[in-house]
Amino acid sequence: MFIIKNSEQLELMRHAGRITAEALLVAKEAIRPGVSTKEVDIKIRHFIEKCGATPSFLGYGGFPASACISVNDEVIHGIPSERRILVEGDIVKVDVGARYRGYNGDSARTFPVGKVSDEALRLIRVTKDSFYEAMKVLKSGCRLGDIGHAVESFVISNGFSVVRDYVGHGVGKDLHEEPNIPNYGTAGRGPRLYADMTVAIEPMVNQGTHEVKVKNDGWTVLTRDGKLSAHYENTVAITDGEPILLTEID
Ligand code: MG
Ligand code: MG
Repeated sequence: MFIIKNSEQLELMRHAGRITAEALLVAKEAIRPGVSTKEVDIKIRHFIEKCGATPSFLGYGGFPASACISVNDEVIHGIPSERRILVEGDIVKVDVGARYRGYNGDSARTFPVGKVSDEALRLIRVTKDSFYEAMKVLKSGCRLGDIGHAVESFVISNGFSVVRDYVGHGVGKDLHEEPNIPNYGTAGRGPRLYADMTVAIEPMVNQGTHEVKVKNDGWTVLTRDGKLSAHYENTVAITDGEPILLTEID
């Protein structure tokens, strides 16, 4: 059952989305060589709480922090730690959710730490651009497979691969609502999506193989070949025309 939001719910989603987006700006400012991922997480948590919201991820399925912070070959679900010190050349994925009056925003960005390799920058750019490929096809009446096809064909044409074991999703009162939204698929296939649904579109793009594995901490997802991965996510409201990005502020 896909949930259509009414105007009051969309307004709350907009507010939650804005807090989520600003929390990512807080992370962006905090990230530099010598900083631990735990320090970044604490700043995110303080910011979200100062806004009168709650970190959506804290305690979700038992997750122990406010943000997922994943470095280099860590794809998603990295646990912030005071022992994980960022160094120049790292790429850092920060995935954040904020719940405001019962509604969630969900967004992720990949930040370079200082100067990073040209190939890392290209991976980050292709991942972001693949999200915008999805935006070209995301409108009321489109099919689920249109989205995944748009993302995957763009990523493959750039020589990278999309993670298949983890996917985008509906978002609203629950952080993860139906439907699951894979970053791969066949155009013209799958159920239709309609205006006033809110969804998290989130390409996870690997430099090498699409295959991943879970670290022995039970959370952190790693690329199987140890190569880099990037992530780009926004919470989006579907309309009859251009989609509205609820977690984008610039
Ligand atoms: Mg997320
Ligand atoms: Mg998500």
